[in-house]
Amino acid sequence: MFKRIPGTKDILPEEVSRWQQIERIAHRIFTIYNYQEIRFPILEEASLFNRSLGNYSEVVQKQMFLTRSGKDIYALRPEGTASVARAYIENNLDKIKGLLKVYYIGPMFRLERPQKGRLRQFHHIGCEVIGSQDSSLDAEIISLADALLNSFSINDYQIHLNSLGCKKDKHLLAQIIQNGLKDKLDRLCADCKRRFKVNILRILDCKNKDCQETIKQLEIQDKHLCLGCKTDFEELKENLRLLKIDYQINPYLVRGLDYYTGMVFEITHKRLGSQDALGAGGRYDNLIEELGGHSTPAVGFAFGVERLLLVSNFIPYNLESKKLIYIITLDKEAKKLGLELMNNLRKKGFCVDTDYEGKTLKGAMRKANDLKASFVIIIGEDELKKGVFTLRDMLSGGQKQLNKEQLIQELNLGIGLKQQSAKNATYSYLR
Ligand SMILES: [Zn+2]
Ligand SMILES: [Zn+2]
Repeated sequence: MFKRIPGTKDILPEEVSRWQQIERIAHRIFTIYNYQEIRFPILEEASLFNRSLGNYSEVVQKQMFLTRSGKDIYALRPEGTASVARAYIENNLDKIKGLLKVYYIGPMFRLERPQKGRLRQFHHIGCEVIGSQDSSLDAEIISLADALLNSFSINDYQIHLNSLGCKKDKHLLAQIIQNGLKDKLDRLCADCKRRFKVNILRILDCKNKDCQETIKQLEIQDKHLCLGCKTDFEELKENLRLLKIDYQINPYLVRGLDYYTGMVFEITHKRLGSQDALGAGGRYDNLIEELGGHSTPAVGFAFGVERLLLVSNFIPYNLESKKLIYIITLDKEAKKLGLELMNNLRKKGFCVDTDYEGKTLKGAMRKANDLKASFVIIIGEDELKKGVFTLRDMLSGGQKQLNKEQLIQELNLGIGLKQQSAKNATYSYLR
């Protein structure tokens, strides 16, 4: 028997309604904020990620799914930002669009050792804005993340905020850490000893207790920030207060990827434990240029969908709220008529199904019950003779014999109205 690869998941029909719900809400909220969807390939040149995430980032070092085609090395995308940046440059979107606001929803891949909460194929909902350095855009991005979480019925999350500053400031920050730690290397964990040489900022968010103690003594606040970056960061904090969005300043928040500059943020949730964020993002003002485009500032974030689903309190319900009509036919002749009726009703937009398992009337009624059908239409010998259909309202248990026109009228009344009110309910919920 074949089994799925460790670290991958089947999303079975029972679960899929929650996924669809989260996706639908995301489409709606992004639309409210005037973002357009972008879809980019799952396969990219591996060097795109080496170049953007950094050769020494954990993702590039250990987690890339690589595949070779002749001389070329491809990677299954481990995240979305690098691909959006590549698409922006390749399609000349700077000339066509000016400011670009896009979002994406889809699978990402990392070669993780399968363990609790870590998947090799997982899903991101993310967005990027390319073409503005305005710090009020940083506030929009965080408020968008906040609006998404609220709409997903997630509460008790914390927004952690920091500023790495511009490229110069980041160098200064690295220097401050280097000078502060060079005589204390023996107090750091093995990973941090390696990071000291290749990816020094990552030492700041090491989870090791001894490392954290040592780092605290450096008293890193915002002393690495230049005046411009300091002003931007102050403005962002002021705007967040204006928007009534709670945040915590965390000077040790760096994020693991090379491309981040300026504001970075991470959103955590108690129920995920200390290791795992719901999502994260920040500015990456140099990435477009580093990938061969013009110097263009940008900002974005992504949520892990599996993690959102873990902490979301929403009650799964079908936004389309389908009302199923189930047709039961009792002989060959009735089956033909049933097929025709089903086709007719489907063309009118009703959701209709019938028994394909050769069940008895009793068995088929049980099936209709399991499927939560709103109405059952029975066609048997008696109905054929009289030229009518028996319509059973599954909620009230009431049953009547109707001709075709009466039947459609009845279904329009019974289902049309219910669907209408379901739609209104959805609308007010999303509003
Ligand atoms: Zn700066
Ligand atoms: Zn460490």
